[in-house]
Order: sequence, then C-alpha cells, then structure tokens
Amino acid sequence: MEENRKESLDVLIIGSGPAGLCAAVYAKRANLEALVLEKEYLGTGQITESDQVDNYLGLPEINGFDLGEAFRGHALGMGVAFQDGMADGFEKEADGWSVHVADGRTIRAKTVIYCAGASHRRLGVEGEQELTGKGVSYCAVCDGAFYRGKETAVIGGGDTALGDAMYLSDLCEKVYLIHRRKEFRGSAQTVQQLREKENVEIITEAVPARISGEQTVTALELKDGRTIPVDGAFVAVGMQPQTQYLQGVVDLDANGYIIADETGSTSAPGFFAAGDVRTKALRQVITAVSDGANAAVSAAAYIRSAKQPVDLPDANKTAKKEP
Ligand code: NAP
Repeated sequence: MEENRKESLDVLIIGSGPAGLCAAVYAKRANLEALVLEKEYLGTGQITESDQVDNYLGLPEINGFDLGEAFRGHALGMGVAFQDGMADGFEKEADGWSVHVADGRTIRAKTVIYCAGASHRRLGVEGEQELTGKGVSYCAVCDGAFYRGKETAVIGGGDTALGDAMYLSDLCEKVYLIHRRKEFRGSAQTVQQLREKENVEIITEAVPARISGEQTVTALELKDGRTIPVDGAFVAVGMQPQTQYLQGVVDLDANGYIIADETGSTSAPGFFAAGDVRTKALRQVITAVSDGANAAVSAAAYIRSAKQPVDLPDANKTAKKEP
C-alpha cells in the first residue's frame, strides 16, 4: 500500500480550461506533483469561443484564444505536465483516487481537482456551428458589448435567456427574444420587465430553423417562414455540466452541477471541484481561475492533513473533560 502511495500523484487536475490551468499553477507553487488531464489536445476550454474578452481584469480587449494561450503558457512555464485523455471512471481508495481514462489507463492521485466545465447546449440549427464566433454567441455578458447599437436575437425561455435579453437591451438598438413556447420557464417578473422595455420584442411559439449569413450573422429564420434581420444571435437554451461520469461518486444538484463551496470541497474527501462545473452564481473566466486557485490550496491542505492525521474526537465516546 505504501509503495502505491509513492507512485500516485499528489493531484490529478481534470480539464485544461481557466480553472484547471490556474489550479495547476497553484499546485506547482505549493510544490505538489500535478498532472493535467485534458480531453482536447492543447485545449483551453470554452474561452476559445469568445472573439474578444473585455471583462478579465487588467487585460481589456484580449482575444479569447490569446487569453487561453496565456493561461496555458503560464502553466507550461511552471513545468506543469499535461496528458491527453478523457476521465470516465472514479474510484475512492484508502489513500486517494483511482481514475480510469477512456484509453484504458488508470491514474492514481491523492487528490482530484475536477474542472471539466459545462458546455452550452447547442440549438442544432443550420448555420449555428459555422457562424459561432461570427455573430452566434452563447454568452451575452462576454460578447454583448460588441453588439452595441446593433440588433440581436436571444433564443431561449429560461432565466439565462431572460437575463441575456435584459443585459443586451441596455446595449443594443433592438433585442428580439425568441422562445419556442408561449409560457416562459424563467422568472415571470423578468418577463414583465422585458415587456416594458421599448427596444425588446418578445416572439413566442417561434422555433428557429436557421441562422443565416456569409461572413457574419445577418438573420434568424423561423420555422413558420419569418425572417428576422439581426447582427447577432445569442443562444441560451441551457447548459450541460460535464458530470456524466460522476453519478454516485460525488453529490450533484438537480441540474447535474457538482455541489461544492468556494474552497472546492465536495461530498467526497479529496475530490475538489472548480470552475463552471460546480454550483455557483457567476460562471465567468475570472471566477473560474479563482476557483482553480482555491481548489489547489484546498488539495494541498488536504494532503498535509492526511500526512499528519488529526485524532478527531469520536462522537460515540464520552468526551473526556479537561482537568
Ligand atoms: P433552462 O432553464 O434549462 O432553459 C433553457 C430554455 O431553452 C428553455 O426555455 C427551453 O425551452 C429552451 N430550449 C431548450 N432547447 C431548445 C431548443 N432546441 N430550441 C429552442 N429552445 C430551446 O436553462 P438556463 O436558462 O440556462 O437556466 C439553467 C438554470 O440556471 C435554471 O435553473 C435557471 O433558473 C438557473 N439560472 C438562474 C438565474 C438567476 O436566478 N438569475 C440566471 C440564470 C440561470 P422550454 O422552456 O420550452 O423547455
């Protein structure tokens, strides 16, 4: 057992988005033996989807790809090791975690920091994929400012779509909110606020058929034959946390997010969560890197406490009173 312990890493970081890369930097700074396992070769997560990021403190107007590369370069410069692989099985062992990789390998680590993120659900219509980053966006807070004074459509009927429409209505000349049903899934109060906005037009029972444009988006076409000329289409049809292999491993909320606090601690000892995959109020690059830092510091503290086990009082025994 002791021999196995020596063979295992201190921390296996799953995912190479901003949360994972920041966790890796902090793990190295804490002198931990860390490995980043990434599904996508040389990946940097969702950030590559943003044309321009101008809400990351100190780096206004940076391209999303460049920001991701800067994060990755920082981790590489600190000597962080990367491997390709998709983690698809997790087993708690006495002295850590045994992580199965889809290619058949097993990686052992004293702690896991899970940063696999959440992906935006796609609409699945013609033109969506081709025009992503060229007028199709999945994040109004990230990209909304590029549509100042322009016309946009938000697609969806949940709280994200409603919030996106509110946010864009303060920037855009006109915002169309397109929802496939009559009733909204999101807050009735926000729907009412949107109805009162002069530059918001709500179109219900409308199903998108195609997003059109050559170099950039020019229109949203609906299944009923209507064409809405817009400069941007914001797709807000829900998120999908990448937690399909975590059922029974760690507690998830009703939407599939890992229940974790700001320290990254989860229901499973030595298993930490960081970034968009955990329960949190604001999913942004800046909160993801903060999560990564917190989770790495928590992992270091966990490893330290495992080396020096604290003799915790047993609740079933009668506590001895100090003389
Ligand atoms: P959501 O609640 O799952 O809503 C997704 C919306 O997209 C639904 O209205 C759904 O329509 C629509 N949709 C799904 N697939 C579609 C398709 N193929 N074509 C057209 N429309 C489609 O997702 P969300 O808005 O991202 O919210 C996720 C969770 O976060 C929710 O629990 C939400 O309350 C919460 N949230 C809270 C806040 C807040 O409190 N401020 C802000 C954002 C999110 P149907 O309604 O017809 O199914």
